[in-house]
Amino acid sequence: MSPKTTENHDVVKLPRSGNMDKGGELSNLNFSGTSSLSKTRFTEYFIQQNILDDHGFEEWIFYPGMLFNAPDKWWGDQGKRDKPHEGLDLCLYKDRRGRMRRLDEKTKIPVIYDGVVVGIVNDFLGKSVIIEHDLADSDTNRFCTIYGHLNPHKGLHVGRVVKEGDIIATLADLRNLKVKTLSHLHISLGWASKFISYNKLDWETIGAPNTLTLMDPLYVIGRHYRALEKEWCQNAQIQCRILGMDRS
Ligand SMILES: [Zn+2]
Repeated sequence: MSPKTTENHDVVKLPRSGNMDKGGELSNLNFSGTSSLSKTRFTEYFIQQNILDDHGFEEWIFYPGMLFNAPDKWWGDQGKRDKPHEGLDLCLYKDRRGRMRRLDEKTKIPVIYDGVVVGIVNDFLGKSVIIEHDLADSDTNRFCTIYGHLNPHKGLHVGRVVKEGDIIATLADLRNLKVKTLSHLHISLGWASKFISYNKLDWETIGAPNTLTLMDPLYVIGRHYRALEKEWCQNAQIQCRILGMDRS
């Protein structure tokens, strides 16, 4: 099934590229700590599994608060986050006709690298799945990816071996939650300290010193992207139309 419920796909005309910045080829970017990682086919799997190519998938779009280390929320009052964003939020993309579309709760979530599930923990919108990959740095810290705000497939459990591209979940359905935001995939990745046990890893501890050293997940999306400029997004009308919700 394609997640193409039209009411969930907004039709904001994006500004010309002069009003955006930071879009670019991944090869132009400098990602410290990611040098030992291979490029991924994550976005290809994502498009294929969710039939996003029906309308043509051009690039991921990021509202400022969706980016790694962003200080602000992109939903609700758009105030400060409790701590800088521990990852990247995938919610919006542009089709080949230049229209903004967004993911919904039917969206299937593929795994980025081969690995094994080491944790399934609650988050404020659903559940997060932590996967360890067969990589260690010189200090034998272990490489992990975390997929947040999910509705994991029944039968997904700690110890389950997964392959790159396997579907582990759909996005959490947020329609009945008090928190007003859109279904989106949060991705975190980083090196888990060899001293931490996975059953101690949750959203209180992720990113804290000596737990998981986080990196910018833009590297793994394997596709062009655009980050919208804050000034352009500050237009309230544009915000409402992009995010498809009123601001109250
Ligand atoms: Zn997030």
